[in-house]
Amino acid sequence: MTVEVDLHLHTQASDGTLSPTQLVNLCAERGLKVIAISDHDSTEGLDEAYAAVQEHPGVEIIPAIELSTDVPGSEIHILGYFIDTSDSSFQQTLKRFREGRYERGRLMVEKLVELGYSITWERVQEIADDAAIGRPHIASAIVEAGYFKYSKGVFDSLIGRNGPAYVERAKLTPEDAVAMLRKNGAVPVMAHPTYSAVKSDRGDVQSLEETLAHLQAHGLEGVEVFYGDYTREQVAYLKDIADNLGLIPCGGSDYHGSGNPGEPEPGSVGPPMQTVALLRESHLGIRGAATAGRALV
Ligand code: AMP
Ligand code: ZN
Ligand code: FE
Ligand code: FE
Repeated sequence: MTVEVDLHLHTQASDGTLSPTQLVNLCAERGLKVIAISDHDSTEGLDEAYAAVQEHPGVEIIPAIELSTDVPGSEIHILGYFIDTSDSSFQQTLKRFREGRYERGRLMVEKLVELGYSITWERVQEIADDAAIGRPHIASAIVEAGYFKYSKGVFDSLIGRNGPAYVERAKLTPEDAVAMLRKNGAVPVMAHPTYSAVKSDRGDVQSLEETLAHLQAHGLEGVEVFYGDYTREQVAYLKDIADNLGLIPCGGSDYHGSGNPGEPEPGSVGPPMQTVALLRESHLGIRGAATAGRALV
């Protein structure tokens, strides 16, 4: 079956390597009809993406975001769909998250320099160019300096969660991320809930079904099922859980243009068109409640 929907894509607004225009063009070329631009802690890529999509009338963009949250010993990423980008308190919080990323990036570079790697914070900032700084930018600087062939190697040896140059982010709980998204009117969805072979430091979410049920009680609406390099077995396992709990089965390539061998391309994997309808319906309900909530204040 051809994939028409890809709900997980990154641009240069965070740690993707393509500009929003390049990404939209690539997605159109690959036959996608609905795409969600889901950068980490930033909606800054969206204006350019909307301008670019004017050239592709058959393609629709869903404004989205990806937030990193912490649970004991690991992280959970929460995606938000149909973000209201004009929400100033939401944008203020994202700005704070990006400032945290900046400081953390600087500290990781300090550690790498102490470990003997000859890179500079200035070069990492140049590579990131105004983006929400992430570990892939640091990995690129290390690859560029010739220490590793691919960024995956840098994650495996140095900046993965247990690596010697890893620095934690400011803590955010998944419950808080879900609440923050719902207040905006966006639909919260758990990203990549199980192990992925192409991302070294990514493990299974512990007690997945219980965690999902718990977060669902806090307002989680969906979970990624058709994701990245997941095997048929992983997809079937996650689809069962989503169906059991009544969560919307989402997904996408999580394309970053990382250059890592085997990275899934946009349109290589994604949910059925039906998922888009379910997300839209859920968004209308959440937005109604969020607007009523704001009107009460
Ligand atoms: P950060 O947001 O700074 O913690 O960086 C996390 C990002 O790094 C993830 O969203 C992935 O895009 C990327 N990443 C994680 N593991 C790997 C890996 N093994 N190789 C390349 N990129 C990775
Ligand atoms: Zn990323
Ligand atoms: Fe993620
Ligand atoms: Fe992602």
